[in-house]
Amino acid sequence: MDTEIPEIRFAMEAQTGRIDPGGSAKEATAKQFPISKSLAGVSMKLKAGALRELHWHANAAEWGYVFNGRCRTTIVDPDGHRETNDFGPGDVWYFPRGHGHSIQGLGPDECHFLLVFDNGYFSEFATFSISDWLAQTPAEVLAKNLGMPASAFANFPKKEVYISVGPVPPATPGEPAPGSENLPPLTHKYCLAGQAPREFHGGSLRLVSSKEFPISTTMTGALMTLKPGGLRELHWHPNADEWQYFISGRTRMTVFGSQGRARTAEYGPGDVGLAPQGYGHYLENIGSEECRMLLMFNSGEYQDISLTQWLSANPKQLVATNFGLPESVVAKFPTTNVFIAG
Ligand code: MN
Ligand code: MN
Repeated sequence: MDTEIPEIRFAMEAQTGRIDPGGSAKEATAKQFPISKSLAGVSMKLKAGALRELHWHANAAEWGYVFNGRCRTTIVDPDGHRETNDFGPGDVWYFPRGHGHSIQGLGPDECHFLLVFDNGYFSEFATFSISDWLAQTPAEVLAKNLGMPASAFANFPKKEVYISVGPVPPATPGEPAPGSENLPPLTHKYCLAGQAPREFHGGSLRLVSSKEFPISTTMTGALMTLKPGGLRELHWHPNADEWQYFISGRTRMTVFGSQGRARTAEYGPGDVGLAPQGYGHYLENIGSEECRMLLMFNSGEYQDISLTQWLSANPKQLVATNFGLPESVVAKFPTTNVFIAG
């Protein structure tokens, strides 16, 4: 007998997290949620005008999803292309590993968004921030680098700012001037909520992989709903872990880990879950209201194999022999992929 399947639920939003004057952040890394080695998440809030300062991530790409409010991001790539985008509820961003970026709340309400990173050991509190770097650098070096007197740096922050507070930027950015945008070949913004969902008996799915959003080469995201009684059928993902953020409703997931091992957990709003790569799993709506959740995969290519799809791909006689049952029983199985049963 192998070891037990580790905990598959973590109450991310129930933490206190980091609270700054301009906003807050709560994270789920492999430290808090050890089963999640390939994906980490952060729930962040920014007040109007608050700026998650210029930074980059040395060891992870960043995927963002806005729940409420509005924010603006600006990103630069190694070729000097830059892009500024405004985001509202249901919008997604993707920032490749190492590219410099910032996020600013546009108000009037606080902006709440989810960040997902393609490295479970990544911590949002160990990002490479511009204020931290400049604070570590002698004023004489900065003076030479920026062509200013060393005294000009006396009032620069002495440590990482992380979230700074300032005015809400103008509705239309004044810079860069029209005609000098130098945009990247691939956009960093995708409107997931605007996508027509795939409808099933028991729910719906909107999915954004690198097919729909070409810059998102290392992560796929999906917004799934389960109606009361809905079942995301038994399936597994051959190429990726599945990390989940539960938005509403009561959901139960059961994970199958071979060798007679299975683990079940129940999830409510603000919880995160994980189904490891290759592990069989299914999700059920166990409440009376619709369940909404974000599913994240650490691959830009989405792959799954569902129970009904697998069974219907095999000859009935073979499946009957497998279970030691008459072929007449097997003949009643669905002949097409159910995906979400109602
Ligand atoms: Mn970031
Ligand atoms: Mn799945």
